Amino acid sequence: MSDCLFCKIVDGTIPSSKVFEDDNVIGFKDLHPQAAIHVLFVHKKHTQDINDLSKNDPNQFVDLFNGIRLFSEKNGVDKNGFRVVTNVGKHAGQTVFHTHLHVLAGESLGHFGA
Ligand code: AMP
Ligand code: ZN
Repeated sequence: MSDCLFCKIVDGTIPSSKVFEDDNVIGFKDLHPQAAIHVLFVHKKHTQDINDLSKNDPNQFVDLFNGIRLFSEKNGVDKNGFRVVTNVGKHAGQTVFHTHLHVLAGESLGHFGA
C-alpha cells in the first residue's frame, strides 16, 4: 500500500533498524521501545490487522511466527523467554494499520494475565 508506513519500511523508502529478514518477513526495532528488546515483525505483504490477515492470507501467520522463532533462537532470547503482542483497532490503540507483532524480550516483563 503506497501510503502505509510499514510497507515503506519493507521497501526501504523509510529507514529502520532491521534485526531480521527472510523472504517473507522483516523484524525491526520499535522507535519507542517498551522493553530492553522490542522488535516489530511484519509480513512483506500488506494486511491491516490479524483479522484481515486471518481472513485473506492465513499462511502469513506461519511466516511471521517462523521469523520470530528464528530471531529468538539467534539472539538467545528463546532461553529466558519473550512476549508477543498485537493490537487490533481502537480499543487496543492500534496506530499503524499494517499487521505487526510486537516482540518484547531481554528482561523480566512482569506477569500478564490472571
Ligand atoms: P501499534 O500501536 O500496535 O499500532 O504499534 C505501532 C508501533 O510502531 C509503536 O510501538 C511505535 O512506536 C512503532 N513505530 C511507529 N513508527 C515507527 C518507525 N518509523 N520505526 C519503528 N517503529 C515505529
Ligand atoms: Zn502496509
